[in-house]
Amino acid sequence: MTKWFSEKLYPSYAQSFGIKRVLFERNTGHQHLIIFENEDMGNVMALDGIIQTTERDEFMYHEMLAHVPLFAHHNPKKVLIIGGGDGGIAREVVRHKQIERIVQVEIDQAVIDMAREYFPRHSNGAFDDPRLEIVIEDGFRFVHETDEKFDVIISDSTDPVGPGEVLFTNDFYRGVRRCLNDKGIFAAQNGVAFMQPEEVTNTWRRFEGIFADRWFYVVPVPTYVGGFMTLAWGSLDTTARQLPIETIEQRFHDSGIETRYYTPEVHKAAFALPRYILDLLH
Ligand code: SAM
Repeated sequence: MTKWFSEKLYPSYAQSFGIKRVLFERNTGHQHLIIFENEDMGNVMALDGIIQTTERDEFMYHEMLAHVPLFAHHNPKKVLIIGGGDGGIAREVVRHKQIERIVQVEIDQAVIDMAREYFPRHSNGAFDDPRLEIVIEDGFRFVHETDEKFDVIISDSTDPVGPGEVLFTNDFYRGVRRCLNDKGIFAAQNGVAFMQPEEVTNTWRRFEGIFADRWFYVVPVPTYVGGFMTLAWGSLDTTARQLPIETIEQRFHDSGIETRYYTPEVHKAAFALPRYILDLLH
């Protein structure tokens, strides 16, 4: 008999994964962490019962959350990653050779340790990149206390419950704004719009008056069920979202980066929002 892991994110709708083998399970002191093997999705990580990442479909999410702001920025040198303990965002960020310094602020050392062991292809060596510094701390505190400024800030957080809740507040966004350089760009995990519409409306309202340009872009990630995941976009440069495709193509070509989901055309198209998402922007 197959054992099942059922993600109960919603009151009356769930997704289930057959568990081939539990690889790790522990309460880390911050959250409940389970890693198991699934026949179709490879290794799967859940925190507090919510799916965080799977080996099979992680590339779509990580490439879009990292490369869209990094190719939209004219010259990113310093990058801040909030959360992202599995290392997938760090892997995509270190591929940008012109970046000189990356700070990753993750609240839970256990996620990093376990991801290194059970998801080695997520970080793919990025945690050992000399440009990357890992800080074990609450991202909310960090953005209020650091003296450093960054060109791009990426929030790869859990959902707005538990330790991730603070990363969706007005105060957090003000902190992010505080440590962005001129023309800086902020991109953040912002839920699945069809299933979590209030996350889009809340962020839309909270970004007002903080970022000169606010918007969302989309990527469908099969195991974040419910259609498009929305990634929040807050920029101090009002032109970065409207770049001509030729500029993005040139930057992508010059980088030599090879991708499995991201292309300059997908980058551009991801900002075209379907009506049901546009209707949430009020
Ligand atoms: N891609 C995933 C998703 O959309 O479900 C998110 C994955 S990532 C593993 C989320 C990370 O955010 C976790 O490693 C968690 O420990 C971290 N995190 C949660 N709250 C945090 C906080 N306040 N400061 C820094 N990191 C936090």
